[in-house]
Amino acid sequence: MTGRMTGHPGASTTAASAADWETLPAGCPICADPHGRLLWTRHGFRWLRCQRDGMVWVSPQLTEASVDEIYRRVDARKAATLGGRGGGPSGPAPSPGPSPKTAGGGERINPRYRAILDSIAAGLGGPGRLLEPGAFDGDFLTVARFLGWEAEGTEINAAALARARARGLTMHGGRLAELDLAPASYDAIVLRDILEHLPDPLAELRLLRRLLRPGGLLYIWVPNLGSLTGRLLGARWGAVVFPWHFSYVDGRSLPALLAAAGFRVERLASANLLWRLSDPWAILHGRGAPPGPVARRLNRWAGRALAPLFRLLDARGRYLGAQLEAWARPDDGWEGSGDGGLDGGWAAALRIDAFPTDARDNSSPSATAT
Ligand SMILES: [Zn+2]
Repeated sequence: MTGRMTGHPGASTTAASAADWETLPAGCPICADPHGRLLWTRHGFRWLRCQRDGMVWVSPQLTEASVDEIYRRVDARKAATLGGRGGGPSGPAPSPGPSPKTAGGGERINPRYRAILDSIAAGLGGPGRLLEPGAFDGDFLTVARFLGWEAEGTEINAAALARARARGLTMHGGRLAELDLAPASYDAIVLRDILEHLPDPLAELRLLRRLLRPGGLLYIWVPNLGSLTGRLLGARWGAVVFPWHFSYVDGRSLPALLAAAGFRVERLASANLLWRLSDPWAILHGRGAPPGPVARRLNRWAGRALAPLFRLLDARGRYLGAQLEAWARPDDGWEGSGDGGLDGGWAAALRIDAFPTDARDNSSPSATAT
């Protein structure tokens, strides 16, 4: 249970087609190569895989205005369905203080959130100042605050932002690039289920690198397209959802992306057999069937039973769990300027040999073609 609603509520209502939206041409988010290998086409958008670094992206790319419009529509629908529970169509739920569901009285704290925060605290020597971009309505931040972190979030979804503020959380409304956050001022940055939502993940990661203090820790939780179920299901995999997910990583491309943004990956791991619970329904019926409690229990059981196997495979560079987790720090030796050209980023991306993968050697630019 992730406890958040980052927003794929039956993507059909907002079902996009490339013709309906303002779009831009898109290349590989890591190396900008526009010629990926075509994986599949949906709604007039193409899913392409970079031959150099394995990154998968959606082309063409929706403009920021289009993305904003999609999130506005989700707001309207959510407000309508939340009506009875204090949300109301026009205002946030008045629920000041820690949510009793997540952090009240020290009980029932989401164990996943606690595990993430504990792992970061262990890497830093204790809690500190934490930023969660895309914090939605602040469930995770509420737990972080309860566990002693000085926690802040950002959010572009206006309704979620208002709900998080109503809980007394420090929230910054808007995109990272528009916000005036102080450089090198955070000990930890947490990206949970956010990276896949970003049309330009490299640019965002470079912004985050600037906000992180030297030696600070970046934590990422993201769907793994290279997972067992991701490989088996391809376009029908639960995390392949448009217009919500634009960037898809695996055990090879995530370290490459982080290196290109000036991070050094300390640890990479994969977890869970299924991405959320939609995978079995994707196999049987197509997509979108709501998961039941039985399925939830089965998934949890399968996740636990397979954890040792996934750990073993992780150690051999085969990341087959449905989600990838990465812990990374700013790379002191990184030459890139942050807004600099792809040369610096790509050169950094080639220095990822610490992570053995099943990838073929991609280091030779094959100069023979002259
Ligand atoms: Zn690429």
